[in-house]
Amino acid sequence: MRIFKKFFVVLLVGLLTVSLSACNSSNTTTDSSSIKDGTYTATVDGHNGEVSVEVVVADQKIEKVEVTEHGETPIVSDLAISEIPAKIVETQSLGIDTVSGATVTSNAVLEAVALCLTEAGFDVEALKNASASKDKEDDLVLDVDVVVIGAGGAGFAAAVTANQEGASVIILEKQPKIGGNTILSGGAMNAVDEGSETALKNKDSVELHYTQTFEGGSEKGNPELIRTLVENAYSGVEWMQSLGMEFEEETFTVLGGMWPRAHKPVEPVGTGFFIAFQNYLDTHENIDLMLNTKAEELIVEDNKVVGVIATGETGNKITINAANGVVMATGGFSQNIEMRQEYNTLWKDLGENIKSTNHPGATGDGIKMGLAANAALVGMEYIQLLPMGDPETGSLSGNIEQGVENRIFVNKEGNRFVDEGERRDVMTAALIEQPDSIMWTILDSHDYPTGEEINNFNEKISDLVKEGRAYKADTLEELAKLIGVDSDNLVNAVSEYNKFVAGEIEDEFGRTLKQDPIDQGPYYAALRVPTVHHTMGGLMIDTGAHVLDTDGNIIPGLYAAGEVTGGIHGANRLGGNALSDIIVFGRIAGQNVASKK
Ligand code: ADP
Repeated sequence: MRIFKKFFVVLLVGLLTVSLSACNSSNTTTDSSSIKDGTYTATVDGHNGEVSVEVVVADQKIEKVEVTEHGETPIVSDLAISEIPAKIVETQSLGIDTVSGATVTSNAVLEAVALCLTEAGFDVEALKNASASKDKEDDLVLDVDVVVIGAGGAGFAAAVTANQEGASVIILEKQPKIGGNTILSGGAMNAVDEGSETALKNKDSVELHYTQTFEGGSEKGNPELIRTLVENAYSGVEWMQSLGMEFEEETFTVLGGMWPRAHKPVEPVGTGFFIAFQNYLDTHENIDLMLNTKAEELIVEDNKVVGVIATGETGNKITINAANGVVMATGGFSQNIEMRQEYNTLWKDLGENIKSTNHPGATGDGIKMGLAANAALVGMEYIQLLPMGDPETGSLSGNIEQGVENRIFVNKEGNRFVDEGERRDVMTAALIEQPDSIMWTILDSHDYPTGEEINNFNEKISDLVKEGRAYKADTLEELAKLIGVDSDNLVNAVSEYNKFVAGEIEDEFGRTLKQDPIDQGPYYAALRVPTVHHTMGGLMIDTGAHVLDTDGNIIPGLYAAGEVTGGIHGANRLGGNALSDIIVFGRIAGQNVASKK
């Protein structure tokens, strides 16, 4: 057994490039006589540290591949960790697609296996070019009570509830993994436990949650839907707890959340929800998940939705008859640039220059399928941007804020430009007006006392600094120099902000949110840009999660929940309200479809 240390691996990659390019021109197939059976190991860098693999070669074939050690985020990386090794063995190839949302982990696994196979004498370039495609499977017809389209938060809430109510359920998911956008979110779930110690301490109530949601959406949301949301949010938290999910004791204010009523899961990002859902799936009968299966259209008979036609992984047709009905839970359309451009009226441009926080499957399929069944749409023009995108990818990854109380935003000149406790649309509109539409999040060691803490994305601040995605300096002057902003401006912005925190002056942008001053080095900065985050519009539903048609009538057999629906959040969704929406309306859809209500 050989253990490749990291620096050795780097060296090897260099050597590998040279030797492969030398032999590629004359030989593209592996000379089997050069393959040596044995067990090989390699370690490379992943997303959150090192990823180690072990490869067993027997009879000159890849017999076993296993990831032996890693620190990658659970659930988000699960598929890359388990499926990629299995596929390598199954197809005897390295021509395997990376798992979207876990590209870094996928590449780390593939790279480490390639190192092992090179060492064993395989021609890895030939293996990378080998086809991993499968033969087309037979068409299928299935019968079930309930079909749920989409294995994100809303889909699972509906599917689990329907199953708890006695229905047989099939969940269709077009991606090779569960989670959708929900798993990428910070996981914060707004809910008021009316009369509890926490609610009393924060002077919070269901009524205040209602008012802030309604007003925060510019009074464009449907009051009845908002009532349903806020009144059932806390029982949604309790329901998740009943499935085994854990939340931190204290509530907090999430970006654009307006009030400290967000419940933070103990597990990183949105993974806690899916650990609980997956566990339910694994331990219950009559609830099945079909991955890599894309719903294409609803089957409508006499104006009633009675099933779904889908395409399986190998391109085969799958027809599912749903005795009770179908729940649409396909999420939003933030990754569909054409739809963004078609419906946007509020922002100057939502073309390809603006990236998105969303997973690639957020393409508005459910809206198209709903339209074909005569569903009404509402609020399609309301598209939410965040001021918090990673400049390369648009993702929320690399966001260094820990809560919202302690950080400020400065533009490339080092000046503040907005109340950082404002609504998301207000902050993003202000950012777009700044030079180059970029900003720096600035905070200090109050939020990172040891310098090893993780952010909401399960990333260590020290790693972000190492990777050049965040900057760290002992003084503000040095930080300004590092990030290329005017030092006097930055020092002045911070000292004025600190006077506001000390209660000496009013904040010039009307900020009320405060906790600690920014005065304890080391100081941190990270670059952020506007990014498309949430599409508030979608299928029109009533408080029973029934989809309504263009005349306002219920479409029998069709239910919807989560981001695919519209009318709840109005013109702007409060931070932390998406998870509440998903769980509350997912559960209602599940209950009603199970009882054919
Ligand atoms: P929500 O927050 O509303 O639950 P998510 O984005 O978390 O939305 O989840 C929606 C899920 O639906 C994603 O996993 C996405 O891949 C899946 N999905 C979208 N379109 C289809 C489709 N046509 N067929 C099957 N699954 C789909």
